[in-house]
Amino acid sequence: MIKENVKKILSEIPSDVTLVAAAKTRNPQEILRAIEAGVTIIGENYVKEAQSAFAVIGDRCRWHFIGHLQRNKVKVAVEIFDLIETVDSLPLAVEIDKRCSRIGKVMPVLIEINSGHEPQKAGVFPEEAKGLIKEITPLKHMRIMGLMTMGPRFGDPEKARPYFVETRRLFGEVQDLELPGVEMKVLSMGMSNTYKIAIEEGATIVRVGTKLFGERDYT
Ligand SMILES: *Cc1c(COP(=O)(O)O)cnc(C)c1O
Repeated sequence: MIKENVKKILSEIPSDVTLVAAAKTRNPQEILRAIEAGVTIIGENYVKEAQSAFAVIGDRCRWHFIGHLQRNKVKVAVEIFDLIETVDSLPLAVEIDKRCSRIGKVMPVLIEINSGHEPQKAGVFPEEAKGLIKEITPLKHMRIMGLMTMGPRFGDPEKARPYFVETRRLFGEVQDLELPGVEMKVLSMGMSNTYKIAIEEGATIVRVGTKLFGERDYT
C-alpha cells in the first residue's frame, strides 16, 4: 500500500514540488518502503524517533526536522538533520548555531510561521517573522532557506487556503527585503488533506503522512 500511495502522490504533484514523507510513529521498515517507492526526504517530529530510524536508514534519504525542537535535543538534531523546518525563536536559533559551530556545519533552516495565530501552536506570528529573521541572519552557522507553516486544521481543506495565501505573501515580502544570507527559496505548506491547495498557493514542499502511510495508530 505505501508503495502505491507514494507513486500516486508523486505522479500528482508538479516536478518542482518536493514531497516530504511525514514519518512520525512509523517504523524504519515502513519508511524504507516509502524510500523504495521514490520518497527522497523523510520528515521527523521527534529526535528520539529520528535517531532510531536514522540508525537503520542513514543516508539513503535526506532528513527534515518538522516537529517542535526542544533546546536540549539540538545537539543530536544537528547531527542527523539536513534541514530544520521549525525555527521559531531566537534562543532556539542561537542554540542551533552554537551546536553547528562545534561540528563545522551550516544548517539550512526554515522559519515556522503560526499563520493561524493559534496560541497553543508553535511558530512565530506572521507580523513578528521579519524581526526574527533579521535577528537570526548574523548567525554564521545557519542559513534561512524559507518558511514553513501548519495552519489551523479544518474538516474542509478549502478553509486552509487563506493561511497558505498569507504565508506565501509573507514569503514574497521577505524575498523583497533581500537580506544577506537569506535565500527564501523553500515554502513548506500542506499536509494530507491540504497539499493540493498548498501547491496552488505556492508551496515548494508538501509534508504528507497519513496519505502515504495510512492512519496513525497511537495506541
Ligand atoms: C504529522 C505532520 C504532517 C503530516 O500530517 P498528515 O495529516 O498525516 O499528512 C505534516 N507536517 C507536520 C509538521 C506534521 O507533524
